[in-house]
Amino acid sequence: MHVVVLGAGVVGITTAYFLTKAGHEVTVIDRDADVANACSYGNGAQLSYSYVDAMASAAFLLKTPGLLAGFDRAIRVRPPLTIEFLRWSLGFATECTKKKAIANTLANLELAQRSKELLRDLRRELPGEFGHRIAGKLVLLSKGSDLEAARQTAKLKTRLGCPASVISLDHACEIEPAIARMLGPYAGAVYSPQDEVGDSAAFSRELANYLSRQGTCHFALNTTVDDLLVEQGALRAVATNRDHIDADAVVVSLGAWSSTLLNLLGVHLPIYPVRGYSVTLPLGEHPSSASVTDFGRRLVISRIDDQIRIAGFADFVGFRSSHDERRIDDLLNAAKSSAPAVADYQSRNNQAWGGFRPLTPNGRPIVGATPIRGIYLNTGHGSFGWTLACATAEQVAALVQGEPTAAIAA
Ligand SMILES: Cc1cc2nc3c(=O)[nH]c(=O)nc-3n(C[C@H](O)[C@H](O)[C@H](O)COP(=O)(O)OP(=O)(O)OC[C@H]3O[C@@H](n4cnc5c(N)ncnc54)[C@H](O)[C@@H]3O)c2cc1C
Repeated sequence: MHVVVLGAGVVGITTAYFLTKAGHEVTVIDRDADVANACSYGNGAQLSYSYVDAMASAAFLLKTPGLLAGFDRAIRVRPPLTIEFLRWSLGFATECTKKKAIANTLANLELAQRSKELLRDLRRELPGEFGHRIAGKLVLLSKGSDLEAARQTAKLKTRLGCPASVISLDHACEIEPAIARMLGPYAGAVYSPQDEVGDSAAFSRELANYLSRQGTCHFALNTTVDDLLVEQGALRAVATNRDHIDADAVVVSLGAWSSTLLNLLGVHLPIYPVRGYSVTLPLGEHPSSASVTDFGRRLVISRIDDQIRIAGFADFVGFRSSHDERRIDDLLNAAKSSAPAVADYQSRNNQAWGGFRPLTPNGRPIVGATPIRGIYLNTGHGSFGWTLACATAEQVAALVQGEPTAAIAA
């Protein structure tokens, strides 16, 4: 079969890998000049296998009035008021119960564990490097009540084979001495010793080169998908700004833009673009080695080889990027007040970035078939696309192949 993957982010490229493994001829289309140039470019780099907790929770709902009033500097809620946003918000609110938050987190954990196994195998096959390391992850929490809630989730995670434990601040400093120089207040941490780190853009480029060299996958870059041509309820071709590409099947992996295309066909996906930012800097005097999250300030600190990446924030502002400069300054200020010695903030050699997370209300990716024969979905990975990419790619490739799979639709 000729399968066309729409989108060359980390999700689209891993999808292409599993499709070629199943023996298909694959074309990957992206409007950018290079692969992984959108949300997969400057993300937090964390393969967060034990920490894929859903954003929608009872605690988050309680904070909503404060968020709307602008009290949390890390989250900006100024969306264009569209019917899609209102529908999405309602969906998000209904996911904010304790029971649903746990179910959503556990579903993501299951995917994360499968992803970890698959990436381990893929690394053996892939010739190039992408800054991969088992770094361990520490999530610093500032309130005793947050620690108590985390203790319960950590027990569940450990039972599922994703080791996580709540530890004291002193213990966190022993594991990661850089934390001793961070400025809280912190009450303790959740520690996931087996979590990993890696540059998702470098991985995507390596994998794309590998697939191209093998001759099993063709990349059509600088090519915008305008529409999908359907006849009698079945896909016929992909319409691009250049030409029509005949396809037996397509997998839509357009990240935050997936719903824009599918709306044209009457398929409505609950995906909202949530803007986040990162800055990549040289190491400071006391750089961290483990991945560290300051939960209160909503920022993550990862070390990729000899650089520190600080990423975070969640802005609900539609597809606007006009405030990026100010928000990146806010992120840098938050990082300086949290971890002043971890990175060289004075360096001119810094790279700032913003990207749109494709977030579903329940925080789970959408993997499945659509009502139109031949059109499949692998999208909506929200805050964890790098972590979950391999597992959902395997699932969607099995679906295209016609194999039964535990597909998850949001
Ligand atoms: C600040 C921040 C930190 C993050 N940290 C982490 C982390 O530490 N760990 C983790 O697991 N995840 C993290 N994420 C989430 C992760 O980056 C995303 O979930 C993931 O990159 C989504 O990948 P994707 O391939 O679905 O989307 P994208 O990478 O956005 O790819 C979609 C592609 O579709 C293309 N496209 C769109 N429309 C068209 C069209 N009409 N025609 C052709 N091409 C089109 C785009 O050019 C793009 O290349 C973070 C995100 C942010 C914003």
